[in-house]
Parts: sequence; structure tokens; C-alpha cells
Amino acid sequence: MKISKIFLYDEPSVPEIQINDLASFITETFGVPVQVRKNFFSYFRSDRETATRIASTRVFNPQAPFEVHVPTEEEINFEEESFGNNSSSDNIVLYDGFELQKIILDKIPSEELSIDTFHLAFTTRLSCTYDCEDNRYHGRAVICSNPSIVSTTGIIEAPAKPRAYYLIMQHSISQGLNLDTLKDKFRGKFLEYHDKNLAQVVRGYALQAIFYHITSEPFCDSKECILYNAHWQEDLIHAQIELGKLCEYHQRILETYKKT
Ligand SMILES: [Zn+2]
Repeated sequence: MKISKIFLYDEPSVPEIQINDLASFITETFGVPVQVRKNFFSYFRSDRETATRIASTRVFNPQAPFEVHVPTEEEINFEEESFGNNSSSDNIVLYDGFELQKIILDKIPSEELSIDTFHLAFTTRLSCTYDCEDNRYHGRAVICSNPSIVSTTGIIEAPAKPRAYYLIMQHSISQGLNLDTLKDKFRGKFLEYHDKNLAQVVRGYALQAIFYHITSEPFCDSKECILYNAHWQEDLIHAQIELGKLCEYHQRILETYKKT
């Protein structure tokens, strides 16, 4: 599968993505032109119907498969106000990632949906998918498809923090201790909101989405590869920040791709 053009949709409330640098990185990596556009739902001039559809993808019961939610006026208003500047709130809302992906797909005009055109939208919305193996929803940093979604909230919330962090956190809460001290103790062991390392990490997720489009295999089993599907923050930091490169197998796939 050869891509002739990639569209990237920014999430302006997370400037740490550094979208123009990401576009240059993708062009260098794949030798393909990349066009940067502003926030997806403001670029495609979304209306109240779009806001209603997005609000209906909210997940309220993480232990059950997706059921269309009938949104309240307040929820629709929230989505409508979030089109231009989708800043994250303290209350994290879960959205079904595949349902969200369908809404994004429907908004892209058909002339931009050819198979050699790839779209990748950033959002602060927390995309989740239902896993039939353990019968529950899990947060996802990336929904691989075309269009693909990278959730900046998913990058921070989906891969788990170190086990010791949770143990000490429970202890601290039971003792009434301040959690800021705990965060200082573990600083650098997991990503935080507006983390300076996000620019590096989004490169890995963008590559996962693009490799999936090219090869139909999104992730790598090697913890030494930027395409590794990390379930722990420590593995994410190791693969995407400390190493930040493809394994030999995927490097070969890339080189073959560029020659064809
Ligand atoms: Zn690999």
C-alpha cells in the first residue's frame, strides 16, 4: 500500500504535539507530502448534529459493549464548545474509539478518501475500545484505521503507571498524605499532561497508525521498537523516548516501502 498524501489534524490545546515538526518527521521517514490542518472538527465546520453524534459515543458502563448513549443538552453543548479548542477537563470522559472514528470518517469529503490518502486526527478525547477477552473497555492511545485517531489523553492515561506508584498512592490516600510528593518521587517514570516528551511520543503513535495502513500490522512485539504497543508507561518511555527507533525488522519494511 503506497500512500501519496497524509493529512494531519492538530489538537491546538496540546501545543506539545509540535505538529509541524511531526509533519516534517513523517515526510522524511516515508518520503510522502504531509499537509497540516487545524483541529479536525473545526476544520470541517461541525454542526450541532456532529456534536450530538460525538456525545452519543460516550461510554458510561466500561463493563458492557457499546450502547448508543442518548445525550443530554449539556453534553451536546460541551461537544459543540470543544470543536475549536478541545481542552481537557478534570473529569475524563470515555468515548468509544470506533464510533468516534466513524464520525470522523463521515466528515471527510469523498475526494479525500482515496486509498492512497491517509488521515490522522489528534484529540484530547479519551478513545476506548471494548475488549471481548476481559469484557471491558480499555483506554487507547491510538485507533488504527483510516482515518486514525491519536488521543493525547490516551497516551497519558492508557498505559499503566509503575505498580509501586499505585501501591504508594493507596497508602498515601489512606494516610491523608499529599499526592504531589508522590508525583515528584516518580517524575520521569510516566508521562504527564503537557509533558515535554509528548512531541517524541506522538511520532511513535503516528508511525504505528501509518504502518498499520501500509502493512495491516499495527504493533510490534519487540520492546525495543517504536511500534511496540506499550501497556506500561515504563515500556512506552523506553521504546519511544529512550530508544525512539524502529527495530531491524520494521526498518527493513520501511526501506522496502520507500524503494517501491
Ligand atoms: Zn518493530
